[in-house]
Amino acid sequence: MRRIILAGNWKMNQTPSQAQVLLEELKNSLPATKHTVAVFPPYLALTQAVAAGEPFLVGAQNCHFEDKGAFTGEISLPMLSEIGVKAVIVGHSERRQYFGETDETVNKKTLAVLRAGLIPVICIGETLPQRESGAYAEVLKGQLCAALSGVSAQQVPYVVIAYEPVWAIGTGVTASAQQAEEVCAMLREQLGLLYDADRALQVSILYGGSMNAGNAASLLEMENIDGGLIGGASLKPAEFAAIVQAANDVKEARV
Ligand code: PEP
Repeated sequence: MRRIILAGNWKMNQTPSQAQVLLEELKNSLPATKHTVAVFPPYLALTQAVAAGEPFLVGAQNCHFEDKGAFTGEISLPMLSEIGVKAVIVGHSERRQYFGETDETVNKKTLAVLRAGLIPVICIGETLPQRESGAYAEVLKGQLCAALSGVSAQQVPYVVIAYEPVWAIGTGVTASAQQAEEVCAMLREQLGLLYDADRALQVSILYGGSMNAGNAASLLEMENIDGGLIGGASLKPAEFAAIVQAANDVKEARV
């Protein structure tokens, strides 16, 4: 059965010493949970996050798709794997928007993360004009299919999809629970067409976009929303703790 995942994307926040304080505050604030709590700190705080141990599953916010070579400034999967990183965010809209990530690089990274035995958290999302024009369903299906090109039926249960409408990221505007559920259900249906219905049921699909303590329960109540990718609110221990508690309240534990 797919897992419920509450994942904090710290983005380019927290120096190593600040990260140490935040990790300790999170450990002190988070309620006990059977769900998966993941943190995605900047590269320089990954070792500390791994050392912090339970309850954190630690992921990186990006990676290169080659194992090594002349790619100045990049970080490879063997490097991440060796320090205990277990997941990688792939294709976050900020990377697509500011750093030229394309569906093609997202696919290469997805395949590389799976080859390395890590979990790719693949972000897809539509822009506001795409939502308003009604083209969002086709855009999202296109992004999903492109990201998963070459991913086998055996591999797909290890993939996590994050539906992150671009218009909701960091804006304080959240998709309504119905809007988010409509898309997550559609993505699961698409996974069923690409693979099969059983495999589609094994893939965790997260919602991301201004999730916070106030709206988490209504989003997490939805059948096809298996957790959240949380930016701003994940840097506030009390707020992140409330989101984990909301998941405890509305989602049955899945092992
Ligand atoms: C994100 O960074 O993936 C995100 C959803 O950010 P925020 O929660 O701040 O909108």
